[in-house]
Amino acid sequence: MSLKGKVALVTGSTSGIGLGIARALAAEGADLMLNGFGDAGAIETLRAGLAAEFGVRVLYSGADMSKPEQIAAMVAEAEAQLGAVDIQVNNAGIQFVANIEDFPTAKWDSIIAINLSAVFHGMKAAIPGMKKRGWGRIINIASAHGLVASPQKVAYVAAKHGVVGMTKVAAIETANDGITVNAICPGWVLTPLVEKQLEDKAKQQGTDVAHEKHEFLTEKQAMEKFTTPEQIGGLAVFLCSESAATITGAPLSIDGGWVAQ
Ligand code: NAD
Repeated sequence: MSLKGKVALVTGSTSGIGLGIARALAAEGADLMLNGFGDAGAIETLRAGLAAEFGVRVLYSGADMSKPEQIAAMVAEAEAQLGAVDIQVNNAGIQFVANIEDFPTAKWDSIIAINLSAVFHGMKAAIPGMKKRGWGRIINIASAHGLVASPQKVAYVAAKHGVVGMTKVAAIETANDGITVNAICPGWVLTPLVEKQLEDKAKQQGTDVAHEKHEFLTEKQAMEKFTTPEQIGGLAVFLCSESAATITGAPLSIDGGWVAQ
């Protein structure tokens, strides 16, 4: 229970990687502020289930990460209700796939708002409290696409490269305040975000999802294996530990050898 007494806010934690990270932090004793979209009843079941399973306090904010004022209000609510935001995981994200000339401007705007600007607004709101308390861990979920590109993902790749850059700036600015700021750069993780891409590709190509899983993995990664949300949760817990106290400003790949090639 290395994180007992700490409070973690994880955006986009009603699903996928965010949920894996929230579970891993709660398993170490951290109180949680959950966030993300979904069915209200299912989210309440999730919230109550995490609280019961790990014996921690768990709140939920429905803040929309495309709305700066809602992000600030969510951080303020966590500080007021749970006492602090010691660990901030900026994870919420969306995807859209099309060539630049066909890429809808509205999709560009929402990916930049949710995947990039929300990370800035979140850090801006959380850093003052972390500085006051002299301890903080900020973990931004970037991507292998924060380090290298793929076609048809212009907004996503731009946003994720931006997240890696912003992580470095925040790390330097807070280096002597007991705060570390790092970016996790996953390769393929089998979550709803990727399942949709697999289904769309299978439809487009007249194949099936099992075939596309093999294609996705072997096209990009050395390992023909998905990373799991639990493994990313384990890396997040490590980044919160004393062993990781001088790791800051780093993009950390967990990608089956994607960017090694
Ligand atoms: P997911 O679709 O399973 O989960 C996304 C979460 O973000 C959900 O909880 C959703 O409700 C929330 N969300 C979306 N829009 C939101 C908004 N406007 N406000 C608040 N919450 C919102 O996806 P995932 O694969 O778990 O992705 C999580 C993060 O990991 C994203 O930033 C994604 O880019 C990144 N990532 C994913 C992969 C992968 O292979 N799945 C790889 C690298 C990086």
